[in-house]
Amino acid sequence: MIRFLDLQKINAGYEQALRQKFDETLQKGWFILGDEVKRFESGFAAYCGTRYCIGTGTGLDALVLIFKAYIELGKLKPGDEVIVPANTFIASMLAIEQAGLKSVLVEPDLTSYNLDPTLVPAKITAKTKAILAVHLYGKLAPMHALRDIAKKYDLLLIEDAAQAHGAGFDGRKAGNFAHAAAFSFYPAKNLGALGDAGAVTTNDSELASAIFRMHNYGSEKKYVHVAKGVNSRLDEIQAAFLNIKLPNLDSDNQLRQKIASRYVSEIKNPKIALPIYKGSPDHVFHLFVIRSEEREALRAYLLDNGIETQIHYPIPPHKQSAFEEWNDIALPITEKIHAEVLSLPISPVMTDAEVTQVIEALNAW
Ligand SMILES: *Cc1c(COP(=O)(O)O)cnc(C)c1O
Repeated sequence: MIRFLDLQKINAGYEQALRQKFDETLQKGWFILGDEVKRFESGFAAYCGTRYCIGTGTGLDALVLIFKAYIELGKLKPGDEVIVPANTFIASMLAIEQAGLKSVLVEPDLTSYNLDPTLVPAKITAKTKAILAVHLYGKLAPMHALRDIAKKYDLLLIEDAAQAHGAGFDGRKAGNFAHAAAFSFYPAKNLGALGDAGAVTTNDSELASAIFRMHNYGSEKKYVHVAKGVNSRLDEIQAAFLNIKLPNLDSDNQLRQKIASRYVSEIKNPKIALPIYKGSPDHVFHLFVIRSEEREALRAYLLDNGIETQIHYPIPPHKQSAFEEWNDIALPITEKIHAEVLSLPISPVMTDAEVTQVIEALNAW
């Protein structure tokens, strides 16, 4: 069986180093906001090319903290509207709503699965104050076009980079294309911890301080609280694990891109729509997503042939009962995507033979 994602195998490559770090941390007895967190924050900021990085408990919290910090700074206020792609993972919208803001769903481009910038201006009202760009599946959203729109309408531009660690364009990396960015280090992401973890990156020193306060009970000095903050910090042990894995992020992404290149050039089946990929660094293939009108049959066929797949995602956010108020909205492109997408196995530990097996099975379908 070719697993969709073999996390055991991914982490086995680091086993020795991870065990050693666990022992060291246990010995040291310092578990919150210590040297490993500092080292990860400066290392990840340097990796992304930003001035600041603040570790958080999860990727969702990283997003919420960005919005809450902007509210604390007076740059957003409850009820403000945020443009967000309709086909993103639901966490993008949950963050907007948790911060007391309003999501405005915009249809994606069917070929890139990212926000279609030509559809954004029509959705902008007097209440629109921000765009949340999502680099879905690991492919950078059209940041130049979105930056032009943000500038023209005086909007904040925020990246949901939870699937795009290391994706680059024009010498810049995800996390450094906007006013602020949120990352997740959920175990299955391109840079994954051994539990929940996240981070915010930004070049804005005011925002960085506000997020630091907000993620630590609204406090910079112990027991002095200047804001109604939350507790959502990156654990020292997770930071230690991430410090071990960060140096391999680029080479891991290159292995994903190599597999994607093979899939794109060798899968030849008129019933399957492939992503467009010409080898550029703007896609780090957190997921390799194909589309087929016979998705369920294809999924069952692949499973019969020993190939595990996943669907990202089966139900669009506006059709979830969590967002009952959106259930009647029609978003045909988003709905088509959710009905047809299928994610193939892709990871740095997949072998050439496994990739070949996936390609041959798809071509024989
Ligand atoms: C994973 C993910 C998140 C949330 O990250 P968590 O660490 O799981 O909270 C947010 N947005 C997108 C697009 C994601 O894929």
